[in-house]
Amino acid sequence: MSENLNNTTSGRNGVILSSAEHPVREEDIDQDALMVLYRLKDAGYAGYLVGGGVRDLYLGKKPKDFDISTNARPGQIRKLFRNSRTIGRRFRLVQVFFRDNKIIEVSTLRSQSEYDEDGEANEVLPANNTFGTLEEDAFRRDLTINSLFYEVENKTVIDYVGGVQDLKDGIIRLVGDPDRRITRDPVRMLRAVRHAARADFRIDEATWQAIIRHREKLELCPVSRIRDELLKDLQGGASRAWTELAIQTGLFYLLFPFYEELLTNSEGETIREELLALLSVLDRIVAEGRKSGTIKLDEALLFALPLFPWVKRRFSLSQEDIKGAGHHQVMKAVRAGLDEAFSCRLNLTRMTLDTITTLFVNSPAFWEGAANGVWTAWLRKKSYFSACCRFVACCREAEIGELADLSLFMNKTAESAKNSPPIAPQKQIFLNAPSNGKKSGSGYNPAFSSKPEGIFGLRREGRNLLFNR
Ligand code: ATP
Ligand code: MG
Repeated sequence: MSENLNNTTSGRNGVILSSAEHPVREEDIDQDALMVLYRLKDAGYAGYLVGGGVRDLYLGKKPKDFDISTNARPGQIRKLFRNSRTIGRRFRLVQVFFRDNKIIEVSTLRSQSEYDEDGEANEVLPANNTFGTLEEDAFRRDLTINSLFYEVENKTVIDYVGGVQDLKDGIIRLVGDPDRRITRDPVRMLRAVRHAARADFRIDEATWQAIIRHREKLELCPVSRIRDELLKDLQGGASRAWTELAIQTGLFYLLFPFYEELLTNSEGETIREELLALLSVLDRIVAEGRKSGTIKLDEALLFALPLFPWVKRRFSLSQEDIKGAGHHQVMKAVRAGLDEAFSCRLNLTRMTLDTITTLFVNSPAFWEGAANGVWTAWLRKKSYFSACCRFVACCREAEIGELADLSLFMNKTAESAKNSPPIAPQKQIFLNAPSNGKKSGSGYNPAFSSKPEGIFGLRREGRNLLFNR
């Protein structure tokens, strides 16, 4: 029988589900994550699997990563794991390193400081996260389905927020008062839409209405966070469903404002279908990649696909291959237009902007070659040959239903990667390059940012980098 956790500090009841009452099994948990959990337990601490790991196991899916929380403090965690380091200034997190660059993140349970009675409901999250209880940690999380704990000693699932019921009912619900939780961190709106799209869940009415009311607050978030969240949605395998929900909530127009007019004019339905068809192709490739584990999609392709229906119309790009000076003019115009409307708002690197422009302007030249598999020698030699082949293959699948050849998207061996340099795949981890005048990132990993507006930071005032319209 499930046990009630009465006398909780919030006055709400928590529930403990025994092993027989939940589907989380240790054989489905990553071996290294289990090792971390058991080492914590053997040292006398509590170890919990938290967040997306528990949610996905509950849904019978393979979790992407396994995050762990504990009542041990960062210094105590470090002593237990020699192969670890502490990151973060606001809230210290310990990363434990394993083979093949695997990292398991272990954090001390946090207090729900954003819920402090003294805190103004309409203020953004203050920078004073402190250590807390299991219950406090549950209430500071984003969605009820992301707030469950799997406790390793008794093999129980602990639920303070009704997450188990929402998992059973297929509901996405923000933890706590949705107005307040969104105001404190507007990125939670994107997270709600993401998980609804991914799990095919319905967004609870109160959460939905709060998103509609507060969507403009996305402008308070650091650009780097928005860009990273958007990339997660594009490569998450449910980008089509995400786009449909993002359009319905209006969040889409805050990220891609130029679509607002396009999708609501007389041609709107056609453009919407075109956009969704491109994203369906992306989702198919991601799904195939999950099976084979060999597919890698670069940032330029991920952004280019949802931008294409707009770019085609904005710059009147036709199927006709433009050559010579005309080609140069079109390149310049498309690059400048993309920069102004999208790239500079999301602080994309110059390399990404150049690659996206190249994909768009050269797509007519690649369309025919892709049809018959015959390429002129000069085209083959171009540095952008592989990237354009991938992009045009996606467009052909979306437009004429010709399935894109998955081998185009396979992770190249070191040898063949040398021959196709247009996009550096590792750029995906350098998204948050500091804007010190240089546009290209060089070895800067956003996860290790200690800047006040870093990963979990918010702008205090409404300075608007994302939406400088
Ligand atoms: P994914 O499968 O994409 O990794 P996830 O839910 O695990 O999904 P993460 O970004 O890995 O997402 O975050 C881990 C956990 O941290 C979440 O499950 C949630 O509990 C918490 N979390 C993440 N972002 C927020 C946020 N903005 N506000 C509150 N809690 C958050
Ligand atoms: Mg996760």
